[in-house]
This record gives sequence, C-alpha cells and structure tokens, in this order.
Amino acid sequence: MTSAAAAQTWRGNGSMKLSFHGAARSVTGSCHLVEAAGRRILVDCGMIQGSRDLEEENATAFGFEPHAIDIVLLTHAHLDHCGRLPLLVKRGFRGEIIATEATRDLARLVLFDAAHLQEEDTRRRQRGAHRRGVDEVEMPLFTLLDVFDTLDRFGRRAEYGATIELAPGLRVRFFDAGHILGSASVLIEIDQGDEPRRVLFSGDLGNAGRPLLAPPSAPAEADIVVMESTYGDRRHRPYAASVEELCEAIAATFRRGGNVIIPTFALERAQEILFALRQGIEQSRLPPSMAVFLDSPLAIGATEIFRRHPRLYSAEVAALFAHHRDPFSFAGLHFVREAADSIAINRVTGGAVIMAGSGMCTGGRVRHHLRHNLWRPEASIVFVGFAANGTLARRIIDGARQVDLFGEAISVRAQIHTINGFSAHADQQELIDWRGRIAGVEKTFLVHGEETVMSVLAEKLPGPVEMPYQHQAFAL
Ligand SMILES: [Zn+2]
Repeated sequence: MTSAAAAQTWRGNGSMKLSFHGAARSVTGSCHLVEAAGRRILVDCGMIQGSRDLEEENATAFGFEPHAIDIVLLTHAHLDHCGRLPLLVKRGFRGEIIATEATRDLARLVLFDAAHLQEEDTRRRQRGAHRRGVDEVEMPLFTLLDVFDTLDRFGRRAEYGATIELAPGLRVRFFDAGHILGSASVLIEIDQGDEPRRVLFSGDLGNAGRPLLAPPSAPAEADIVVMESTYGDRRHRPYAASVEELCEAIAATFRRGGNVIIPTFALERAQEILFALRQGIEQSRLPPSMAVFLDSPLAIGATEIFRRHPRLYSAEVAALFAHHRDPFSFAGLHFVREAADSIAINRVTGGAVIMAGSGMCTGGRVRHHLRHNLWRPEASIVFVGFAANGTLARRIIDGARQVDLFGEAISVRAQIHTINGFSAHADQQELIDWRGRIAGVEKTFLVHGEETVMSVLAEKLPGPVEMPYQHQAFAL
C-alpha cells in the first residue's frame, strides 16, 4: 500500500482518531496524533535521521496543521523525538509542550545543538553553491530563534505517576520509561461513558539491567498501546558481559598501540560509557591513568545536566551522588569543548579512548577521528548503539572495506566491534514482557522500527497488531 492510499484508510466509528506521522515502519521521526474530546494532541515531533534523502523529508508537510495542535506530549529528549518541534512552532503551533523536567533541560540542549548544525550546514552549502556560480538560497530547517520560540511553549512539568488534566475529560500520566534521563511512556485517558478510554504510548523503552536508570514501568491497563520496536528481532548481551567486552577491546587495542574510537550518542550512552570506564578502572581491568577524551560539547553539556538530577537514578548511582562522588568522572578523563583541542587529538596515535558524536557517524567530530584511525590496523572502532540503514556506522558494521570521508577514500583496517549490551533500548524479550504486563489491550500499534524487524515482533505479540504506514489514520 502506498502512503497516499494509506492516508485514506479510515476504519471504525469511534470518537477518537489516531494517526501516524513519523517512525511509521521506520526508526526515526516519531510523531503521532491523537484527536479526542475536541482536542488535538501530538505525542513527540521528532527529526527524521539517516541518509541525506531521508533527512530532506523533514522539510515536507507534517500531515496535519501545526496551528491546530493544542498540546504536545514529549516522551524524551532524543532528536528523533523532539527535533521537529522548532519547525512545528515555526509553522504555527501555539499550544503547550508538556514534558518531565529532565527532558525539558536535555531538549533545550539538543535543540540548540540541532539549530546550530542546521545553520552551519546551510552556510556550507551556500558557500559551495557560490563557488559553483549557482545563485541558490537555501534556508535551514529552523534557526536558534525558532528554538527560543519553542522553549517558550514548554508549559507544565510532568512528574512520573502524577495526573495532568489536558482538557475536561482528558488527562495524561507519565511513566518512567527507563530509556534516557527523564524519559517517559505516556498514558492518555479520555472520558467516554462509564469507563475512560486509555491510549498508551511507550515512547522509547529502556534496556533493564543497566546501572544508571530504573527499569521501564508501565500502567496495569490500557485499551490501545502504541509501542516502539527498535530491537524487536534480537536479544542484547547482558550488561556485565558488554562491560567485559569493552574492557577487553580497549586493553587489546592498547597492546597493539592503537586508539579506541567510540562513536557516541550524547545523551545517556556517553554517560553510561563514562560510568562503565570508571568501573573498569576501579576494578583494575583498565589502566588507572588511561586517557579518555569526551570530544563532544553536546555530550559534555548533557553530562552536566545529568549531574543536576541525582534523584532520577538507580539506587547504586544515587548512593554515589549522596556521598559526593561523581559517577561520570575519573583521573584521565578530558572534556574537549574547543574545535582546536579536538584537532589536537589527531596527534595522538595510540593509547587513548576517543568518544565523539554522532553515534551513527552521519556528522560531527567522530568523522575526523575515523579519518585518522580507520585505516590503522592497530586501532579499534567500538560501536555501542543503534546504526540505522544508510548511515556510515551501518556501512562500517556491515563490513565495508573502504568508506568515503571528506571526499577521500579511507580503507577500513581497524578492528570493528559492536557491543549491543549498552543499548538504551529494550530487546525483543523486554518488549514482549513490557507489553505482557499491560492488561485489557484491544490493539497494539507498532512504530519506531525497521519494517522487517517490526514484522518479527508482531508475530510474537498477543492480539491484533497493526504496523501503520506514514500518515495512516485509525478511528478507535
Ligand atoms: Zn530515544
């Protein structure tokens, strides 16, 4: 079915409409719309990420009128969930954005960073066009000013478990999704006859057993569940085994005299890896004075925000904070903010761990570090997160012998490791268990997964399961 045909799909005679405008049979761009009780509520408004072609879709129409949206419920601060909010505001949204306090703090950082990248990218393309003598005026998707306007739209702060009234007969509750700091699943309740109708959006669900956050929680009951399916077809290695694998990869690389490059997502993953390295050093599995460069202003900013929310962590990490010990710090750690200091790392040819973004290597400082290390057989590249189709990270993981970086062909001779136990996402069994804890479900909608992966999970879930197409709408 084409998405145009899908947009016409309309079933049931319910008084609620649910439609999907992102992460439909794909992983990024989360954006779902609930229309009920005379209100239009958007759950997330994320950026589409991946190849250049995919990213160009961000500039197309949303599939609804931004000015007609009353409320946005933001599940968490990852760019693929909050990244189109400034565009929504730019195109006319004047309602309220509701999120947890940590999500608000992190989204602020993420959106300013995204606007900065958009503006830089546009300037670069304009310079290129100018050199070619083409008179082409490209506009960024949004600017820093749009981000300021977006921050003005953040209203009430959600607390886990507390009910927020959205309109008469319409409420929402946030549940800890255990995915990144401040992340939530949201349960929308609509008064209808004797019993309310309840629609639960999982947001992104965490991988239980990681040290920083609590495992995902869920309400006991819901009528409709919209859930993510990123890792719907596979199991993760246990966390402890993943830390072991990371320490071994680092030790072996240092013995060969190389550097370890870790393409790092700035939120959560960077802090988890810092925590794991700190543990490895404490347990004498890694050299005590090992040099670690966190070469990402965004990850550094996020780490500072993480330190501001000590009450959101697991008991083990909360105890460290209570004893004034920083879970994200150790002797050899260097925070690299300035570009000149980042370039200086190029002179380090061995014995260092270099963490830099972006996690999927689609941009950012990590591409420079790959250019300087990918061709060295003594170096290692350690992937610790999801790599979407079409990204440089995925090409390297899939065994490319040569990649293009800054117009130069670079041979891949470094050791390539993928360690998925650090994933911030639930694996197949955890997704099945989470869904299994919710009673009374009439229908489950799968989003936020690649189509083939989603189909595998759909087979394993109870009851009717839908895999909506982009812009498909359902009357419930
Ligand atoms: Zn996420």
